[in-house]
Amino acid sequence: MENVIILGSGPAGLTAALYAARANLNPLIITGPDLGGQIATTTDVENFPGFPEGLTGPELTESMQKQAERFGARLEFDTITSVDLTQPPFKLTGSTEYEAKALILATGASPRKLGVPGEKELVGRGVSYCATCDGFFFKTKELMVVGGGDSALQEGLFLTKFASRVQIVHRRDSLRAGPVLQERARKNEKMSFIWNTVIAEVKGDKAVKAVQLKNVQTGEEYEKPVDGVFVYIGHVPNTQIFQGKLAMDAEGYLIVDGKLHTNAPGVFAAGEVHDKWFRQAIVSSGYGCMAAMETEKYLASLD
Ligand code: FAD
Ligand code: NAP
Repeated sequence: MENVIILGSGPAGLTAALYAARANLNPLIITGPDLGGQIATTTDVENFPGFPEGLTGPELTESMQKQAERFGARLEFDTITSVDLTQPPFKLTGSTEYEAKALILATGASPRKLGVPGEKELVGRGVSYCATCDGFFFKTKELMVVGGGDSALQEGLFLTKFASRVQIVHRRDSLRAGPVLQERARKNEKMSFIWNTVIAEVKGDKAVKAVQLKNVQTGEEYEKPVDGVFVYIGHVPNTQIFQGKLAMDAEGYLIVDGKLHTNAPGVFAAGEVHDKWFRQAIVSSGYGCMAAMETEKYLASLD
C-alpha cells in the first residue's frame, strides 16, 4: 500500500513527486510511456525560470527526476491501463497491481493527429510528432510542418538545422505562436508558409513522397512532393482510463476545483490533464506542487 501514487513523469508529475517526497510521503511515480512527458521531446526550453541560458527538454527532465529522487521519490516504468477509484485504497492496474491511499493524476496530453488518409500508415516513415526524435533523419530533405502555434514554429525552426526547406502549413492566415518565435521563423531563409491550407492526404508507399494540400478558402486541391511531415496541431488529454470514473469536460479534460481536487476525494489532478489554457512546463510544475501539498493535507486528515 502506497501513501500516494503519481501517474505521469512530465513537469507536473515530477514536481508533485519532489514536494510529496519532501513531505515524507515516499511517493511512487508511475512514469507512463513517455519519461519526462512532452517537454522531453523538445531541444530548446528558454522560458523555464532558473536557467538563463536555456536548456534541453531531456536535461530539464533529468534534473527534475534527480531532485525528486534525492528526497526519496521512486520511479516505476509502467503505464496504467485501468483504475478503480470507487473508494480508497485506490487500485491501479499496469503490468502489475498497485494500491494507494491517494492519487495525483498527471497524465498530461498527447499529440493530436491529423486524421487524414496515409497519416497512420506512414508514422515512422516520414510522418512524425517529434522533431527532436526524428529531425536528424531528414538531412537536406524537404519537410512540412503542420500547425500555427508555438510548437509548430519552435520545432520547425529546429528542423531547419537538418532540412533543406521547411514549409509551415497552417489552416488560417495568421499564427497563434508568440511574437519571438514568429520573428525568428520569418527571418529564417529555409522557412516558408502555406496559408489557409490543410493536408488532405499523406502520400507514399514505403515512405512519405508527397502531400495532397487543400486550400480551405477556395477548396482547390493540389499535390506537393515532400520527404517528411511533422504534425504540431495541439494535444488531447490522456484521460481515457478515467472515463466514467471522474468528472471531465466535453473535450475530456478532468474537472478540478481551485485546489486541484477531482470529484473523487483523495484523487488530485495536476497539469495538462486538466489545464487546457496555459500549457507551459512551469504551469504544470506549479500544479504539481499544489496537488502534492493538498495530498499531504488529505493524508494527514485520514490520520
Ligand atoms: P505531459 O508533459 O504531457 O506528461 C504526461 C505524463 O503522463 C508523461 O510522462 C506520460 O508518460 C504520462 N502518462 C500518460 N498516460 C499515462 C498512463 N496511463 N499511466 C501513467 N502515466 C501516463 N512549455 C514550455 O514551458 N516551454 C517550452 O519551450 C515548451 N516547448 C514545447 C515543445 C513541444 C514540442 C511541446 C509538445 C510542448 C512544449 N511545451 C513547452 C509545453 C510543455 O511541454 C507542457 O506544458 C508540459 O510538458 C505539460 O506537462 P504535464 O506534466 O502536465 O504533462
Ligand atoms: P496550440 O497552441 O494549440 O496550436 C495548435 C495549432 O494547430 C494552432 O495553430 C491550430 O490552428 C492548429 N490546428 C489545430 N487543429 C488542427 C487541425 N485539425 N488541422 C490543422 N491545424 C490544426 O498547440 P501547440 O503549438 O502545441 O502549443 C501548446 C502549448 O504549449 C501552448 O500553450 C504553447 O504556448 C506551449 N508551447 C510553448 C513553447 C514555448 O514557449 N517556446 C513552445 C511550444 C509549445 P488555429 O491557430 O487556427 O487554432
